[in-house]
Amino acid sequence: MARIVMKFGGTSVADIDRIRNVARHIKREVLAGHEVAVVVSAMSGKTNELVGWVREASKAEGANFNIYDAREYDTVVASGEQVTSGLLALVLQAMGVHARSWQGWQIPIRTDGAHGAARIAAIDAALMIERFGQGQVAVIAGFQGIGPDNRIATLGRGGSDTSAVAVAAAIGADRCDIYTDVDGVYTTDPRIEPRARRLAKISFEEMLEMASLGAKVLQVRSVELAMVHGVRTFVRSSFEAPDAPGMGDFDNPPGTLICDEDEIVEQQVVTGIAYAKDEAQITLRRVADRPGVAGGIFGPLAEAGINVDMIVQNMSEDGARTDMTFTVPSGDLDKALAVLGQTRDSIGFDAIQHDQGLAKVSVIGIGMRSHAGVAATAFKALAERGINIRAITTSEIKISILIDDPYTELAVRTLHSVYGLDKQ
Ligand code: ADP
Ligand code: ASP
Ligand code: MG
Repeated sequence: MARIVMKFGGTSVADIDRIRNVARHIKREVLAGHEVAVVVSAMSGKTNELVGWVREASKAEGANFNIYDAREYDTVVASGEQVTSGLLALVLQAMGVHARSWQGWQIPIRTDGAHGAARIAAIDAALMIERFGQGQVAVIAGFQGIGPDNRIATLGRGGSDTSAVAVAAAIGADRCDIYTDVDGVYTTDPRIEPRARRLAKISFEEMLEMASLGAKVLQVRSVELAMVHGVRTFVRSSFEAPDAPGMGDFDNPPGTLICDEDEIVEQQVVTGIAYAKDEAQITLRRVADRPGVAGGIFGPLAEAGINVDMIVQNMSEDGARTDMTFTVPSGDLDKALAVLGQTRDSIGFDAIQHDQGLAKVSVIGIGMRSHAGVAATAFKALAERGINIRAITTSEIKISILIDDPYTELAVRTLHSVYGLDKQ
């Protein structure tokens, strides 16, 4: 007997038929004698709809961006998972599986106070574990917990992955299976490169980079938690028949295992390509070149909750003034421009320029640590396709390149092929 967590994303629970299919996957594991905690997302599209309602309800007349009470945002957007957890418990009961739903506050899953992007602080799993002893399956609403203010808090978009890994750590699960609409982690998003290949294993570090650079198959925080707590995490498909051969294989289920680097025998130089659309670029012209300026610019942006990403600062020609370029999510551009407008006098710059419709394409691989020339290969391949590079950032195991959005697919496919990722 083992203890496992099974997480099902939005497309896997999109309607009652799919919820029934999910219940069959769960029943398979229950019949194998395992103790099971399930984490569910809202039905696909539901959270977007709820977020849209929040925006509509809180928009002041004439404003082109809105600031709303994040506690009420959480109250609204957490409701999608409440619905699917109850529905799945009902379907399981109808199939003769002993199950009950749990909302984040009932367990409780305690979070910090950062409403809308809360982090899990602690999970008291005692009651759930007691119920396992009675053969009960726990069906947990993902994406939500309870903050220090005793109010519902959500974990940021894609947060059910994090709920699942955190629950797995809290109950000491032997495995955490993230069921989704693809059958594993691929060398790049299979939706835009059909020649992408499924990886049997990927290291925590690489998965962390893939996720933070746009591969939304796992939420970044879930990978961090899996790495820190050593949770054995698989990404696998809920669309495969629940009784297909091998589906119940305990040690090697079909899918991708996220694991320590040293568990991977054949290391590639490049493991995957990720992309993020909807990036906007801001350039401040002729900023004073003196200590404290970067803090003066990025401090107020951070306070406004704006995530600044690539930052490029030129050397000033005269030692007095320089240009500063950085990217923010397109959805935050208006807010960022408003914040910078207010701080213009204290920072001191001549003009603000901005551009939208950009994308960031990234090459990821642990092998880059020990191989030279990986970046040069990317630059040459993109140039041959006539793709202009606006900005570049690098770390030990990744290269990120900012380009114009219409070239995203071409850039991803070009890089995927130039590093031989489409070959077996
Ligand atoms: P869920 O609703 O199950 O949480 P998501 O939509 O959040 O599912 O994540 C699954 C999606 O992630 C896939 O449909 C796929 O398009 C996308 N994706 C992006 N990059 C990758 C990748 N490298 N490997 C697999 N899927 C990826
Ligand atoms: N339903 C939430 C979202 O769409 C959480 C999740 O699906 O993981 O972001
Ligand atoms: Mg997801």
